[in-house]
Amino acid sequence: MYYYNAQYNDSKTKLIINIKALDSNHAQAQAVDIARAFDCKQFHLEYGLNFQANKFLSELFESLAFSSFNAKHCSEWDGGMTNKNPCIYIFKKRFYVRPLFVKYLDIDRSDVIVKMSCDNHRCVNPYHFNYRKEKNSKLGPGDLQLLFGYLSSGVGVADIAKSLKVHRGTIYRKLAQLKQKATDTSNETLKDSDLT
Ligand SMILES: [Zn+2]
Repeated sequence: MYYYNAQYNDSKTKLIINIKALDSNHAQAQAVDIARAFDCKQFHLEYGLNFQANKFLSELFESLAFSSFNAKHCSEWDGGMTNKNPCIYIFKKRFYVRPLFVKYLDIDRSDVIVKMSCDNHRCVNPYHFNYRKEKNSKLGPGDLQLLFGYLSSGVGVADIAKSLKVHRGTIYRKLAQLKQKATDTSNETLKDSDLT
């Protein structure tokens, strides 16, 4: 595993996120996912850990990238709350945490409303997200077959993402998810559509 840091700027403030990655492509894909979540147009990616990084957000995005939330337990937000919704202030703007995650995960957001299956208003565990719109998965069962086919024939992640018309981060997360599923038999309640 390698460490990188991504720096996001707006006119006055700077946000630095440490990124754990398999290689530089994986780091780049994660940096793009984070930029999309914050509506940030540009970032600067460097090799190595940056001690000025936002530790809290770095860990949060790492959990998202590696699908390492525990499906069975709530992940309670201990940051700010507005109208009973977890929120965070970045670039002097307020972001609600769940929509931020939905954007990061690149789930089709048109008409999507996140409701928590656990009814815990502090929970931000994506495994507990229920989407009002049924069809939220960017990769269907047919795409998964294709994904395995590509992988076994040695096609790279960037090319797979291009042919399936999804972001590279989606492919990496799917792979991490499948790996975790294979090793963790306690995740029986996990549905394919829970995380994309
Ligand atoms: Zn929960």
